[in-house]
Amino acid sequence: MTLPTFQEGQVALYEGPGRPLRHIHTSWGPPEKGEVLVRIMQCAVCRSDVHTLEGRRQVATPTVLGHEIIGRVVSMHPSMPIEDLQGNAIRPGDRVTWAIYAHCGHCFFCDHDLPQKCLHLFKYGHQPVHADGSGSSGGMADYITLKPGTPILRLPASIPDNAATPLNCAMSTAAALLREAGKPWVNQASIMVIGGGYAGLSAVALARDQGAKNIVVVEANPAFHERCIAFGADAVVERPQEAMACIDSQTKENNRGFDLVLELAGSSRAASMALESVRTGGKMMLAGTVFTSPPIELDPEAMVKRCLSIQGVHNYHPADLVTATRFMESSGSTLPWASMFGHVGSFKDIQKILEWAAHNPGQRAFARMDS
Ligand SMILES: [Zn+2]
Ligand SMILES: [Zn+2]
Repeated sequence: MTLPTFQEGQVALYEGPGRPLRHIHTSWGPPEKGEVLVRIMQCAVCRSDVHTLEGRRQVATPTVLGHEIIGRVVSMHPSMPIEDLQGNAIRPGDRVTWAIYAHCGHCFFCDHDLPQKCLHLFKYGHQPVHADGSGSSGGMADYITLKPGTPILRLPASIPDNAATPLNCAMSTAAALLREAGKPWVNQASIMVIGGGYAGLSAVALARDQGAKNIVVVEANPAFHERCIAFGADAVVERPQEAMACIDSQTKENNRGFDLVLELAGSSRAASMALESVRTGGKMMLAGTVFTSPPIELDPEAMVKRCLSIQGVHNYHPADLVTATRFMESSGSTLPWASMFGHVGSFKDIQKILEWAAHNPGQRAFARMDS
């Protein structure tokens, strides 16, 4: 019998806004019951990581950031076989992704099929770690120990690493948004998507695939407009006022407003925009504002008289990770996913990668742990 071994490696410790990450050496013990030890292959820099680095999103420190991660399974506890979300046995060497959280499976929210709001939620890339780097649970590290209750998914070989890495955050959030909206809403006459970044365009592509008829994207940066069309938008505009004109000309609905509005830009202004753009009896869904933003005005009388539905979507259900992965598998060669990918650097240059990401919103930067 082989003795359990410790894996040696590095983590990039985040100690507070404005402070450069610090590489420190640490080790990962053999997995305990229900745990899976993974060698990280690659971690993407999500906008929420940038918000944390810039001090707009509060996290307990020190911590190891990064939650859009893929890796190869090293080992799991021998007494406990582990299956992925599709019932495949997880084995050493498997290339995997996993949900951004582990959940307990038996609290009020888990019992109500809302595991993403589990009372004991453990979010990767968000938990504090020891000053020596031990207990790390973020992607900016050589290894990660997945907790029991982590929804894991074996990745199809046909999905390249760059396309696979943001599946478990941006794209699963987009899948959650459309599942929560429901097919009848996606199939209504008009959808407005606010934000032409990774999550926004994932929502556009998924909505198109699910039968959406007329999608208008609001994206402030004209450099991304061509990409929005390539992902399936019928029109793309810089400001929401122009979006109204688009549905006028395309559906002749006389400025009625959009049936469904999805906010994925992540600002109070975008949320206000969504509120102004949704039609009477329409549905507005918010998923972008995942950090503290100024409140927006909600006129209760207008809410009632406009018969509005407003829904927030945070994190996602494990089933959304499966939807996102299947969609990437089928659309990988037909949509220009590569236009979403930017700088790829070595983990040792993590600071440069983060700086690139901060200056290039709308494109993903990646750190490779094996180069
Ligand atoms: Zn993210
Ligand atoms: Zn729970």
